[in-house]
Amino acid sequence: MASVYNWQLGRGMSYPHQEAHSQLQFAFVFNINRCIACQTCTMACKSTWTFAKGQEYMWWNNVESKPYGGYPHNWDVKLLAMLEAENPDGQVWRTKRKTPESPYGEFKGKTIFEAASNHRSEGGSMRALGYVPPDEEWRSPNIHEETAAGKIREKDQWGDSVELPEHRVWFFYLQRLCNHCTYPACLAACPRNAIYKRPEDGIVLIDQERCRGYRKCVEACPYKKPMYNSTTRISEKCIACYPRIEGKDGVLSPDSAPLETRCMAACVGKIRLQGLVKKTADGKWAKDPDNPINFLVRERNVALPLYPQFGTEPNGYYIPPRWVPRSYLVQMFGPGVGDALDQYCCPDRELLSVLQLFRTTQQIIFKFRIEKGRKVAEVESTLPSGKSAVQEIFNDTVIGYNKSGREVTRITVEEPTFERSKNHVNSI
Ligand code: SF4
Ligand code: SF4
Repeated sequence: MASVYNWQLGRGMSYPHQEAHSQLQFAFVFNINRCIACQTCTMACKSTWTFAKGQEYMWWNNVESKPYGGYPHNWDVKLLAMLEAENPDGQVWRTKRKTPESPYGEFKGKTIFEAASNHRSEGGSMRALGYVPPDEEWRSPNIHEETAAGKIREKDQWGDSVELPEHRVWFFYLQRLCNHCTYPACLAACPRNAIYKRPEDGIVLIDQERCRGYRKCVEACPYKKPMYNSTTRISEKCIACYPRIEGKDGVLSPDSAPLETRCMAACVGKIRLQGLVKKTADGKWAKDPDNPINFLVRERNVALPLYPQFGTEPNGYYIPPRWVPRSYLVQMFGPGVGDALDQYCCPDRELLSVLQLFRTTQQIIFKFRIEKGRKVAEVESTLPSGKSAVQEIFNDTVIGYNKSGREVTRITVEEPTFERSKNHVNSI
């Protein structure tokens, strides 16, 4: 095994392949607080890519209700239990020392690659700890939709969770697709070398000619996003709508600039922002604070990776839901949760401006600029951590630019309003 650096863990880790990095990396930020579970994203993906025979159960994009929902069923709980059994009480974070290259501290436990050494799967050694879900776990994709956890009267299993601002009874929607990981477990596990990561944008693809359907990728992916097609007998996964990323949609992208994927572009709740972030030759995120994804993930740490402890360095990031017990969120998004929520609940003017960019254009925004506006409000609030804060709100204008540097969106913090004329009450 080679040694690679995983910034989300704040340390090096073992991985079956040497470091090799793309120039740009496909990445996205989802604001869980805004999702209404309309499943428009899910259907946009399904109707574009997985409507053929053998793909009936494939939901490359899905939105599940947590804590009980999951597709396949219990995908995360099962793997967390396997890791815990492998390293009892050892799956912990040390958060005292943080640096720009270890913003959440250091993970002291075992990743799925490190925990695999004692395990063998059918037909050979295991490169990543995992399992193949049985058929019944791929049924009922939206099982336990909106089933809440918690008790009204007594302390529940999450200890202090009955204290506000967390809710006594809670659930939330988790939007999921392939994370196009920096260290993909699917790629590491494939005995045919059929899975590759594109050097130009970091998108992870399965070569349909080379795949023989051994399902090692299904077993290894901790997020269970490769899926086996029993008609063609090969595996398939999200392809990140790569023709759109390549700017091949001439109507929507006249200057051949990259477009967001179908699931992002269709999002009704405006929770999704997708981008391509610059990487340096040694795999670090380049300093690029004017890129909105870079700003939210690396400058502000307000959007956090999903289960960073699995070790694949996923490139999907989430603004955590405000009302959910912190211990649950920390397990899911790592120890950066408290800081992220304090910032989200009382955003400064720059963060508030960038939050307006979600779903204002189908073009991928490579750069933003803020034009300052007048102060419109001042609000006193108590942060989730208990500290007091005063939020000043300014009606700033945020402008987004595509890859060619062309302006593709312009939006103010205050939503424009129109007053109907007295003569035409039903029109504007
Ligand atoms: S989420 Fe799973 S399928 Fe996607 S790149 Fe990561 S390991 Fe591979
Ligand atoms: S389209 Fe947006 S709001 Fe609707 S379920 Fe998907 S992520 Fe949530």
